[in-house]
Amino acid sequence: MEDCIFCRIRKGEIPSEILYKDDDFMIIKDINPQAKIHLLAIPTKHVPYIDMLDDAGASLLGKIMHKVSKMQKQLGLTNGYRLIINQGEDGRQAVKHIHIHILGGERLSEF
Ligand SMILES: [Zn+2]
Repeated sequence: MEDCIFCRIRKGEIPSEILYKDDDFMIIKDINPQAKIHLLAIPTKHVPYIDMLDDAGASLLGKIMHKVSKMQKQLGLTNGYRLIINQGEDGRQAVKHIHIHILGGERLSEF
């Protein structure tokens, strides 16, 4: 999508601190961090909402979560972390391109 900020970051049109990138997804720093460490894992393919994912896209979300667990030390998440997906209007999804928030680097508040 031409006007999607995440797709534009992926293409290098908008600068961002990319911590990891492969064909399927990338991990960047959130520009408005809500925790000491606040990263975003963003699938490469532009799909706005979770309910629009095909089977491969749904599997990819699981793969991303697994990859984050393998990379946790490298990402500075030495003592646990939280993964969040904001879905739709009530979920306060800011960018209409599926992404997983990764929060940590400190003791997070309880819900
Ligand atoms: Zn996009």
